[in-house]
Order: sequence, then structure tokens, then C-alpha cells
Amino acid sequence: MNKKYQVVKGFRDIFPPESFLFWQAEKLAREIFARFGYAEILLPVLESQELFSRSIGADTDIVAKEMFVVPDKKGQNLVLRPEATASVVRAYVEGLAQKGSAKLFYYGPMFRYERPQKGRYRQFWQIGAEAIGYAGPGVDAELLLLLDLFFKDLGLKDISIRLNSLGCKICRPAYREALVKYLKSNESALCEECKRRLETNPLRVLDCKNEACKAVTKNAPSPSAFLCPDCATHFAGLRKLLDRQKLVYQLDDQLVRGLDYYTRTVFEFQAPTGLGAQNAVVGGGRYDDLVEELGGNPTPAIGFALGVERLALLLSEKISEAELLAGPEAFLVFSGEKAYAFAFKLLFALRAAGLFADMALDEPLRSLRSQLKLADKLKSKAALIVGEDELSGKIFNLKLLGSGKELKLDHETLQRVAKVDWEEMKSHLSQPGFVYAGKEYEQALVQNQGLLKLLKIYLHELERQEE
Ligand code: AMP
Repeated sequence: MNKKYQVVKGFRDIFPPESFLFWQAEKLAREIFARFGYAEILLPVLESQELFSRSIGADTDIVAKEMFVVPDKKGQNLVLRPEATASVVRAYVEGLAQKGSAKLFYYGPMFRYERPQKGRYRQFWQIGAEAIGYAGPGVDAELLLLLDLFFKDLGLKDISIRLNSLGCKICRPAYREALVKYLKSNESALCEECKRRLETNPLRVLDCKNEACKAVTKNAPSPSAFLCPDCATHFAGLRKLLDRQKLVYQLDDQLVRGLDYYTRTVFEFQAPTGLGAQNAVVGGGRYDDLVEELGGNPTPAIGFALGVERLALLLSEKISEAELLAGPEAFLVFSGEKAYAFAFKLLFALRAAGLFADMALDEPLRSLRSQLKLADKLKSKAALIVGEDELSGKIFNLKLLGSGKELKLDHETLQRVAKVDWEEMKSHLSQPGFVYAGKEYEQALVQNQGLLKLLKIYLHELERQEE
């Protein structure tokens, strides 16, 4: 046997049905973004290393330890993007700033060299949005309400929201000073990493997961006590808007988020259970200085990133595999070469008309029994039998696999039913005494417009065959 290859550590193949969960999340996000006026930006996966060290901050885990560096042939260091906010801002400054403000969303993979565990991978997918050029708290509220709607529409009702304000470059220094003073007085209790952070990036100490550090930071001064009048007004404005919309959130003084570029509003959406230590599904906040730091004009902005793997994990607890993998509406079961040829034609006519149809295409041709088994395995709703009698137009024969009932029509009835227009049929159905087929069939047709389509196409192909 030849050598088998394995997926790279920390990377994953996303198989069906999990891939359906990703698709569901993406589809809903796209619908909601459209309603909220966010347009998609497609970004490169490779960026310059400097873009992230400038924006996220040199003393963050992402920049210090987690970048996938790709040296290019000219000796310049490129990286697989660890997040997309910096990329969106770079793209905005390069190609959009002259047009004014922009509301953008993205969907794609991010790369961080982290220790893999449940809900944490080295390649993971994010759906994110960025509103650039908006200063007031209205757009902060808009993003939080957008996310709330998204989770509710997915049926995830127990996601909690944590909210804080970090202040701006005017009020942050005083807070930072008070924090450093407090942490220094408790330095001996901090982990080695945090002792170092105290000098380089003291706010990051509040993010440390170490229990001893957590015990210290529990009583640390909070940024909200240091907000300047403008930041306090902004935060109060946001809270007023959210309260008016009756959005439930918790104020969390210790929420600082790990990256350097955040100012004012920061937030997280958290799952109660199911994700282990990785319970943050969304992280976001304002970054009012970043556009300027990356070469643009001073431009306020805010955004969020949602982790699709973590969302898919939550959804998988609610949606069964059977619900995700819908079976064919019709599985064509044939007996003999001639029926195979007809069924093959019919298969593509049904698919071209928009129906999910399937049949066994393997050779040697499968027996009837084996085809029916396959129809069951694929969770087909119905098996359409194509045998000699069916080919000669004597009978139409459909087995409804859920109920086990058989629907058999003679050619004349088939012709009559297939001629019925769906709208017309609905109006006829409401009239007493309208009978066009057996009772069971009537019911099945009412419930299943696809079935009516199938009948029409079947008859069409049958007649063409006779021509
Ligand atoms: P961040 O960009 O760090 O603010 O993360 C935003 C969201 O992306 C988090 O709340 C997670 O849902 C997700 N996320 C971040 N890192 C990972 C990872 N290594 N694996 C899976 N999801 C992640």
C-alpha cells in the first residue's frame, strides 16, 4: 500500500453534515447583512507581517507567537492573516476611503498557531463586519442588534452579551496608570507571563486565564471609572439605545479583549455551555484610531468577528443529522436495460427542472432490491418505479418511503393530473366533489408541489419516448 497522508496538525477537513452548518450560518449572515446594508469585501489571505504587528500590537499572543509566517522570494515576510479587521482597514485606506464611510462584511478562514483543542484550531472561519466612518453609538447598537437577531434566527436563545468601554487615547493613560499601580502592588501573585505584560501591555493581564492572576484582577480598577466626558457620553448613548430596544446585556468591567487597537466599546457574545473553555462566539469593538495608524485620515470605526466553528458546535447540539442531510425528493428505481436508459434521461430532466432526484448509477446495474435499499439509505422521500409496465405507459408507480404507501395511477389519470396547474388545482381542491385521483394521492399532491412537477416531467418524458 502507498503512503497515506494526514491533515496538518491543528487543521481540519470539514465534512458533511458539519459543512451544512457552516453553510446555514453563512446563508443567514448574508441575508441579515443585506438587510442591514453591509456589503461583502473579498480579501486576500496573505498580508504583510507588519500590518498585524502595527495594528494588533507586538505584545499580543497573536503577533508574538501565533503567526504563520510565509517568506516570499524577495525576503519579505508575509503572513497568513490571523484576523481580518486589519486587512479590511488596509483595504479601506487603499481603495475605499475616498468614497467616505463603508459598511463591509467578510467570510473566510483565519490562521493562528495556537494549541489545538475543542473549538480552537489553527485554521478557523470567521464571519465579520466592519463599519468604518461612524462615530456615534448608533452603529455600535446596530452591530449588537444584528448579532442578536442572527442568534435568535438560528434558534440560539441563551447567548449572553458582555459589554464594556475601554475609553480613548485621552482617558486610557490614567486608567492604565491606575491599573499598573494596582498590579504592581500584587505583582508577586501574578504568573511570569503577566509580570512581563505589566511592563509591555498591562491590559492583557486582565485576559489571563491563570487562576492566581484572575484572583488579582477581580478587584482591579475598572476602565469605566476613568472614562473622559466624551467616552462616558458615548457609552451612555449606546446603553440607552440598547435599553430602548430591550436588548439584554451584562456590563463587564474586566472585559478588555486581547488586541491593542480597541477603543471605547468592546463586547463579546458567549455561549453558556457546550464549548468548554472556548465560550466566546463573537468578539468585537471600536477601533477609532486604527485607520489613522494604518495611513488613513482619522476615521472612527467598529466591527466584530464571529467564530464559525464554535457556532457550528452550538448548532450541532440543536439540529440532528437527519434534518441537515435532506434526502432526494425522488429516487428512480429501474428494472432492465431499457428502463435504465429511460430513468437516466428522466433523472436529468428532473434535476434540470430543479428537483433533487437520484438513482443508482453504478455498473453492473443493481438489482431492484439493492436500489430500494440505497433509496432508503439516502433518506429518499419517494421511489419512482420504472419497469416494463411503467415504460409502456400502463401505470405510474410511486412508493412514498416515509409512509410505505404506494401511489398507482393509470395512464389516463396520470395525464389528467399532470395537466393540472398548481394554482388551478388549489382552487379546484377547495371545491367539494373535485376528484382527480385517489384520496391519498390528492393529499400527497397538496403537500408536495415537487411531486406535481415530477408527474409533469415524467409524463413528458414518457410521451417523448413514444414519439
Ligand atoms: P478574535 O478575533 O480573537 O476576537 O476572535 C473572534 C472569534 O473568533 C472568537 O470569539 C471565536 O469564536 C473565534 N476564534 C478565535 N480564535 C479561534 C481559533 N483558534 N479557533 C476557532 N475559533 C476561533
